[in-house]
Amino acid sequence: MSSPKNPVPQHRSFRDSVDQMFSHAASLLNLPEGLEEKIRVCNSTYTVRFGVRLRGAIHTFVGYRSVHSEHAEPVKGGIRYASNVNQDEVEALAALMTYKCALVEVPFGGSKGGLRIDPRQYDEDELERITRRFTYELSRRSLISPSQNVPAPDMGTGEREMAWMADAYKRLHPEDIDARGCVTGKPLSMGGIAGRVEATGRGIQYALHEAFRHPELIKPTGLEGGLGGKRIIVQGLGNVGYHAAKFLSQEDGAKIIAVIERDGAISNEDGLNIEDLRAHLAQTGGIADFAGGRFDPNVAAALELDCDILIPAAVEAVIHAGNAKAIKARMIIEAANGPLTAEADQILRERGTLIIPDMYANAGGVTVSYFEWVKNLSHIRFGRMERRQQEARHQLLVSELEQLSADRGLGWTLTQGFKEKYLRGADELELVRSGLDDTMRGAFQNMADVLYSDNRVTDLRTAAYVVAIRRIAASYQALGL
Ligand code: GLU
Repeated sequence: MSSPKNPVPQHRSFRDSVDQMFSHAASLLNLPEGLEEKIRVCNSTYTVRFGVRLRGAIHTFVGYRSVHSEHAEPVKGGIRYASNVNQDEVEALAALMTYKCALVEVPFGGSKGGLRIDPRQYDEDELERITRRFTYELSRRSLISPSQNVPAPDMGTGEREMAWMADAYKRLHPEDIDARGCVTGKPLSMGGIAGRVEATGRGIQYALHEAFRHPELIKPTGLEGGLGGKRIIVQGLGNVGYHAAKFLSQEDGAKIIAVIERDGAISNEDGLNIEDLRAHLAQTGGIADFAGGRFDPNVAAALELDCDILIPAAVEAVIHAGNAKAIKARMIIEAANGPLTAEADQILRERGTLIIPDMYANAGGVTVSYFEWVKNLSHIRFGRMERRQQEARHQLLVSELEQLSADRGLGWTLTQGFKEKYLRGADELELVRSGLDDTMRGAFQNMADVLYSDNRVTDLRTAAYVVAIRRIAASYQALGL
């Protein structure tokens, strides 16, 4: 309830939050006059309203595709299916795509799309017709095209929708030899790549590994000692949350002590069995009644439970001025885009919470999308041509990793099995994973370099923006703008 002592928080819109974080970082750079605004603003947003005849009546749908920056092309970003999709949100997400791609050095501009629909209200045939019609509308405006704009999965979409889109595009452009590269996140049989489905969750795991290799960041949180035994809460057991929870619990020995979903939260101090929980969710549509934990319908309270690491992997603005002070996690890794508002970000930073920002943390998806797009355009099975080079690179990487560990006295060593896998040359999945790992390591190092060298930068998000903005500004300047 609102009272003078406890006012209802006034949330900025998601886009305002992104712009505010951007502007803070941009103000630290000496950008030529006008360039800051050029980078910040969204170049264009296309809104389409189209009808599809379903169940004997015409249903009208509203869709968006926003292009934030074309300093690199094609532009890239997912398409979200959700009932509350709106222009402001899609534009904020498109902006984040620009910064994300720049940070991980994926040569794309930023874009994002959305369709205002609750996919659970439609059956598969209906969704296919709606998706094909949406693809047609996007294609007419070159908002789906291997050379100009390449969508991908996001909330509410996955391999199935990408397959429909790729097929619809191919029928509209039978002469386009690169048609397969018009979307990423396709099934393997349609030109997809191994490891794309797990990629964002895998990237979260690699991002955490990298963070724990930086004792100067971990020490103030009191979370020293690696991921083993760490108590983690995951919000959202969709594709990203599920894979992150799975890898962290099964491979790193962390304990997922609570999972928050639409209908409530399920907790277990000994660690939840993520495979069983995911199966229960798929079967029943919720997590209530799951036998392996204690259920509580209070979603908001669950975010505030005591834990070491909080992984918001659902929607934006779940942590805001109203609940930030109650968050107990010592570290937050943003698997979702924009889960913290700018106010929450500030409150938590002041309290010493380590925040691993979305544009870095969830960049695994677009990184592997890039590998898929390259595979589609090269028309070569990924990895086949470069076996010798790969071996040499892996050998180098293994020695670098060992050296790094020794230099920093981190006390971790590579297992023999891990080394052998690296050196063997590897199949597509292994190559994708090692390419992703390299990318996550490199980008973290870029952020860390800014953080340690510029005393005006005191957090990873600002560091990430600084790295990204510098690169985008350099592109614009090279373009002559
Ligand atoms: N939707 C994902 C994101 O927000 C993936 C985008 C892509 O692969 O293009 O990063």
